[in-house]
Amino acid sequence: MTRRFDADFLIIGAGLVGLATAWKLLCARPNARALVLDKEHAVATHQSGRNSGVIHAGVYYEPGSLKARFCREGLQATYAFCAEHDIPHARCGKLIVATSPLEVLRLKALAERARTNAAAVEWLDQAALSETEPAVTGLAALRVDDTGMADYPAMARALATLVQNAGARIELGQTVQSVRERSEGVEVQTPGAAYSARHLIVCAGLQGDRLARQAGLALDFAIVPFRGDYFRLHDARSSLIRHHIYPVPDPALPFLGIHLTRLVEGGISVGPSAMLAFAREGYRLSHFNARDLRDMVLFPGLWRVLGRHAGAGLRELGCALSKSRYLREIRKYCPSVELEDLLPHPSGVRAQAVSRDGRLLHNFLIRETAHATFVCNAPSPAATASLPIGAEIARLALRH
Ligand SMILES: Cc1cc2nc3c(=O)[nH]c(=O)nc-3n(C[C@H](O)[C@H](O)[C@H](O)COP(=O)(O)OP(=O)(O)OC[C@H]3O[C@@H](n4cnc5c(N)ncnc54)[C@H](O)[C@@H]3O)c2cc1C
Repeated sequence: MTRRFDADFLIIGAGLVGLATAWKLLCARPNARALVLDKEHAVATHQSGRNSGVIHAGVYYEPGSLKARFCREGLQATYAFCAEHDIPHARCGKLIVATSPLEVLRLKALAERARTNAAAVEWLDQAALSETEPAVTGLAALRVDDTGMADYPAMARALATLVQNAGARIELGQTVQSVRERSEGVEVQTPGAAYSARHLIVCAGLQGDRLARQAGLALDFAIVPFRGDYFRLHDARSSLIRHHIYPVPDPALPFLGIHLTRLVEGGISVGPSAMLAFAREGYRLSHFNARDLRDMVLFPGLWRVLGRHAGAGLRELGCALSKSRYLREIRKYCPSVELEDLLPHPSGVRAQAVSRDGRLLHNFLIRETAHATFVCNAPSPAATASLPIGAEIARLALRH
């Protein structure tokens, strides 16, 4: 007798990656029975709804990597999707500003990398920089005209509507507690229900590694949460800049540094920092979660990564504890910002995979078993890249 499953494809996670995956699956296989589960009561509650809102152009990423490829494809796909579905967005461009001779050298390397990645950039000398952005100071800058901004929560809601209109179910408020892979499919348990599916796709962001381990995958990395604290500039400063303004990042870290970001709804955000969080969904410095903390402390990769990046860690701790210290980072390239300009703004937490030997994993990471596909590392720019990531996961899942 053939087994009757609740769904052909069961997707855990209604963030941008899970919803884009469901949508791409249904585009490729319109008759498939797809079910999306999320533990929260709204889509895009975590990373997809708590980010900088930037559409990235693909400047920074290792040439040939999944990140480089999917970011370039995602750039075009996100603009097209936003235009087609009336989602607020704009191509405002960005400047990456070097403020020291070392940063000028790093900026030159970044310009080379951008060209290899087919991202169009223009070099600005000091005079051209101050003409382009009078409030910004630096020795040189790279201008990236393709960079933009989008309302990512609205994009997630639009994807959810498309998925439901295509016949799939989205069940919110369903925390998946256990995942079991069987010989012919997968069983998933929430507190109130049990589901079975031919194929499982896990896009669970900050909780992704836990569900993968439950399903029996042996992982040599763990998700470590890095909180990004933001401020919002006072409305009186909302015309301070015309582009997003970024510092030159430390090439050893996957984080881009505290930047000034134009918001699609108007105004400017400042951030995010990158401070180790004491809870995977800990949006305040004071948030602790005993299980998350225990897992982190017992994970050798955490101590190795802290040792390797001790200087950056101390700088981040300073920014988390002191607003003046945070302000100093912004004033390196935008000296007119004052302490009283910085108003509260919601934080986000990045799901960053760290290997057992203490490396911050930069690339997107997807693992597969016979009946399941796991998104194990989808940090920035995975909002920009969500549509091509979704297409790739759909392709992998449909092969089964
Ligand atoms: C501070 C910050 C700034 C960023 N800035 C940018 C940017 O400007 N541009 C850009 O392109 N990217 C940016 N990113 C990255 C981007 O936001 C993320 O890479 C992307 O949103 C990841 O989407 P996701 O669907 O994988 O994860 P998420 O959006 O976190 O979704 C995972 C979902 O899984 C659900 N879930 C987890 N566990 C369970 C369970 N057991 N049962 C049921 N459901 C579960 C969660 O509730 C959640 O809804 C930023 C990220 C952060 C944190």
